[in-house]
Amino acid sequence: MSCSCMLDRRLSIRQYGLLMQTDKKTPPSLETLTGLCKRRGFIFQSSEIYNGLNGFWDFGPLGTELKNNLRDAWWQDMVRNPPLGPDGEMLDIVGLDSAIIQNPLVWKASGHLGGFNDPMADCRESKARYRADHLMVYLPTSGEGTAYAFLEGEPAVAEKRIRKAKSDTANFSVVPFTDLPLDQIATVWGPDATKAGTLTEPRQFNLMFKTFIGAMSGEGEDNTAYLRPETAQGIFINYKNVVDTMRVKLPFGIAQVGKSFRNEVTPRNFIFRSREFEQMEMEWFCHPDEASKWYSFWVEARLQWWASLGVDMRNLRRRDHDEDELAHYSTACADVEYQYGFTAPGFGELEGIAHRGNFDLTQHQEASGVKLEYFNQETNERVLPHVIEPASGLTRGVLVLLNEAYTEEFVPKGDTGGDTLLAEPGSEAPEGYEKRIVLKFSPRLAPIKVAVFPLLKNREELVKKAKDIFAELRKTWPAFYDQAGAIGRRYRRQDEIGTPFCVTIDFDSLEDDTVTVRDRDSMRQYRIPVSELKSWLFEHINE
Ligand code: ATP
Repeated sequence: MSCSCMLDRRLSIRQYGLLMQTDKKTPPSLETLTGLCKRRGFIFQSSEIYNGLNGFWDFGPLGTELKNNLRDAWWQDMVRNPPLGPDGEMLDIVGLDSAIIQNPLVWKASGHLGGFNDPMADCRESKARYRADHLMVYLPTSGEGTAYAFLEGEPAVAEKRIRKAKSDTANFSVVPFTDLPLDQIATVWGPDATKAGTLTEPRQFNLMFKTFIGAMSGEGEDNTAYLRPETAQGIFINYKNVVDTMRVKLPFGIAQVGKSFRNEVTPRNFIFRSREFEQMEMEWFCHPDEASKWYSFWVEARLQWWASLGVDMRNLRRRDHDEDELAHYSTACADVEYQYGFTAPGFGELEGIAHRGNFDLTQHQEASGVKLEYFNQETNERVLPHVIEPASGLTRGVLVLLNEAYTEEFVPKGDTGGDTLLAEPGSEAPEGYEKRIVLKFSPRLAPIKVAVFPLLKNREELVKKAKDIFAELRKTWPAFYDQAGAIGRRYRRQDEIGTPFCVTIDFDSLEDDTVTVRDRDSMRQYRIPVSELKSWLFEHINE
């Protein structure tokens, strides 16, 4: 086919809301994703029967499996079998599980007590609270009149107001709210207000949740403690324990997965920014002379890791921090960013890889008085290692997997396995086709690996054989048994939760001891002897 023909075909396909299978998928909206997550038991609003609690989410049965699978994949590829180093050498990374509540001195030394702040601005009228650094403002270029604030990426309300005031956005420049001189804040019309002048000046707000240890203290006694805002500090304060007990040699890593808590000013975008979340962090301790080599290595390795889970490279990008974004102790930092549905066409952070120098070990060494230098017996050298930190969100990673997996397709009616067409989310199926929603998780991450169906629920022999097979498969994989409804409907239910394989037991199975295995993505069906079923699944689930 000539190029122009192909283009014509693509255009006509587009007209009908279709995409080529190789096209980049249009990401689902947050409403679509939250709806699916609730309907199919992935993620629920926390405390829902009490009207929820802003910034907190509960993982349902399938969400828990998915999150555990992502956590296990990270642990496997980071701790048990890390990537080979830049010179093809094997790396040494060990695991840790530290307490959520630490001695408050930890947070003093790490700088979190003094500096883990976000600027916030309140609206006196609507009572809404904003991260001041997430607010942007349309500022009149004339220097006179009302300025219109909006949340980053959501300029529509402000633009509507500008049109209503018979003006044009061309007469404005867009500036961050935090850059405004204080006397100009009174001219700003907040996103949820009915008039200008209701936003407060930005104030610093510490993000750490406080709690109290033991019975209520006597007067003057301070028993305040904090829920950890990151897992990393638990690693630094155990660095010496690990060096003393594990015979690790520089360079080496310590990794940890666990809950972190941040009293975010504006939790939003589903599980992207919540107040309780999970992180997967690794601190890579190395000789100061080698730190920049390891920094480059880990930035690339982490990007590749997300791609290895099936995340489309076109949805991932590396963003190097500008110098003015870096913490004072850091010489470099890069984010792995992802194009979420709610950031498209822009990107949002998924993971940060920071070159932290020896800041953390220096701080803890000084504050605790305990020497944290590493002694190299071969060279008789003492060094305070430098640290490269790949820090990613486990719960944010789940959001990426859901975004990536969500697919709408048009399939020829009757589930005949003909050509399927990639659909724009929300578009209607053309004549002769029906829509299916499918979560295309890689089998490694899918919450349920295999579903088992008897063709008919009222034929005892079929049900018994199906249950026997189910009982055998669930010893090895998360499996699901379903005998309700037509087979096509049962396939669709599994498609929507991302189960890669469905096994059907029919009348031929009773005769020749074979079953049909149906592949989620191609919808192809294979006839497999029961004696080979486990090895077939093993091969395809682990490929
Ligand atoms: P952000 O700029 O989005 O607030 P951050 O740069 O403060 O994030 P880090 O402290 O580097 O984040 O934490 C590492 C990772 O932890 C982030 O890349 C993100 O995946 C995750 N994370 C941080 N804050 C939250 C949150 N409130 N909810 C969910 N995940 C989070």
